[in-house]
Amino acid sequence: MIRPEDLLAPGPDGLWCPLGGFHVDPIRPVARALITHGHADHARSGHGAVLATRETLAIMAVRYGEDFAGQQQVAVPGERMKIGDVTVSFHPAGHVLGSAQIAVEAQGCRIVVSGDYKRRRDPTCAPFEPVACDVFITEATFGLPVFRHPDDGEEIGKLLASLAAFPERAHLVGAYALGKAQRVIKRLREEGYGETIYIHGALERLCTLYESEGIDLGPLAPATLESARRGESAAFAGAVVVGPPSAFADRWARRFPDPVPCFASGWMMIRQRAKQRGVELPLIISDHCDWDELTATIAEIEPGEVWVTHGREEALVRWCELAGIRARPLHLVGYEDEGD
Ligand SMILES: [Zn+2]
Repeated sequence: MIRPEDLLAPGPDGLWCPLGGFHVDPIRPVARALITHGHADHARSGHGAVLATRETLAIMAVRYGEDFAGQQQVAVPGERMKIGDVTVSFHPAGHVLGSAQIAVEAQGCRIVVSGDYKRRRDPTCAPFEPVACDVFITEATFGLPVFRHPDDGEEIGKLLASLAAFPERAHLVGAYALGKAQRVIKRLREEGYGETIYIHGALERLCTLYESEGIDLGPLAPATLESARRGESAAFAGAVVVGPPSAFADRWARRFPDPVPCFASGWMMIRQRAKQRGVELPLIISDHCDWDELTATIAEIEPGEVWVTHGREEALVRWCELAGIRARPLHLVGYEDEGD
């Protein structure tokens, strides 16, 4: 059997497969890239050729323009493809629309690059599929035992309770533009919230893309004064407004009456972070695994070895060793958890 290190090796541009002549989620433009999902730290523009799921290619086209790569090729989940001397296949990762784990195989060795993933139910994307492998490459964004995310139903319930308690205040929900925003909107709909939800301009095209993929987000309108009822800021009283977290720090946010700043992120577990950002209503909703999900996933897959890409590598590596699984940190740089 080939040594795993010879099949996929960490390098300055990301994970490199010499037998296939491609990178996985490279952080700089390369000749040939296989891409797990559309978050900006994994999917960059300017590659010679990109192989990704149809949804990820569509997301990249929305973000970077149709000509984001020299060539585009669709990976159909579950289908095996030959590239050079290796076979690759894509499998759902449950992280955001189109997100996939990428399995790379040659000479009896299979490595699964999970990209970013989660195990919780998410009505906006296909659920994570465990794939048996010799090496499982995992991130560890929330790789400490203190990270235990509550059920997202509880968090959505907090938002609905606040809307009922403060009917005069606009609820400004900070959520990453790809994935988190659509998940929060969809979960509100599932809990029976039928009012128009106002969205920041940065979310519009991605919300439209999700809807074109059959994810019904209900009535949405731009969060502009022109679109508000009666054309005045008071019209946003009691409304839900969703935008990227950065938008709430600037002038844009001042149009809303007595707003309740909310932020949907796994980091909201840390009170200090919520306080620093001026978040009044923290919503602990993450598109990553918490500690229990990371360890349960490794226990379920039973890989021969675990490589940890980024986040809090040490604790997860230690947990693997105690569980009798070889593990090592890869110290990959350039992954910023756009969609935490
Ligand atoms: Zn991501």
